[in-house]
Amino acid sequence: MRSCNTPAPRLTPVAALPAYNIARILAGADNCPMTVSPWQRRIQRAQELASQHPFAAEILGFYIHVARFQENLHHQLGAALPRPSASVNSELTRAELAELSSRFEPFLAVAEAHGPKPLAELSHELHARGRDFWSELLQGGWTAHSPSDAHGILAQAFLQPYAELLRSRAPLHPIQTDYALCPFCNRKPALGVLRQMGDGGARSMVCSFCVAEWEFRRIVCPGCGEENDQKLPVFTASGFDTIRVECCYACKTYIKTVDLTKNGRAEPLVDELASAPLDLWAREHGYAKLHSNLLGM
Ligand SMILES: [Zn+2]
Ligand SMILES: [Zn+2]
Repeated sequence: MRSCNTPAPRLTPVAALPAYNIARILAGADNCPMTVSPWQRRIQRAQELASQHPFAAEILGFYIHVARFQENLHHQLGAALPRPSASVNSELTRAELAELSSRFEPFLAVAEAHGPKPLAELSHELHARGRDFWSELLQGGWTAHSPSDAHGILAQAFLQPYAELLRSRAPLHPIQTDYALCPFCNRKPALGVLRQMGDGGARSMVCSFCVAEWEFRRIVCPGCGEENDQKLPVFTASGFDTIRVECCYACKTYIKTVDLTKNGRAEPLVDELASAPLDLWAREHGYAKLHSNLLGM
């Protein structure tokens, strides 16, 4: 998705900040008692950002439909599969696959009606393939650690609420690696979050699949574990006050971190989606995104 009408952002490096040595695992947002669901908060933030950033209105409009669908799916699957037997690291059972593929058609209808044109066309094409094909696609999406094509991106967006459901029922165990991997499903993070801690901010990572959030030292590349702050430049741009583009000279990857110390109303998943011009900037400067977000961007 290219935002043609948007002037290229001017990014400026920010000074390196002190590292935190943190190993505590944070529970995911939906483990907390809330009166408003995580999806409702994300939808409200998407509506707010769509009015502020016209270039992101189309993708955020689509995201709102996806988030509504995901919330319903999460509740339906919670009721239909009270004791799921799959883990995010093993194949879906026959019963799970049957439940999921029976609900894939309405998801395709959402993507067909509200998605960007290429995704809408792909959903139309998938619609005609039928349930056996969908089962295969969903099983592949469940076991793949990163979607390899547009089919995989659609499958992952559909499966994500189920991964969140499993994760919300299980304890998180820290993984001892130099780089960032989800403590629940071993996927890479799609974004980072900076939260107020003492006089500074503590960084955590957000999983690209099950949306677990876990703390991760601030001056370490989540892609390769590089710790030399001279090789870890951070960029910010006016107009995107909550976003930090955190790059690594060593492995040439970047991740966008949503800075909640700047704006506590930001919703990390949504603010990350709404800052696509920064992805263009990073790619034009030779950095590859560590992992794509929910919509494959
Ligand atoms: Zn995960
Ligand atoms: Zn790196």
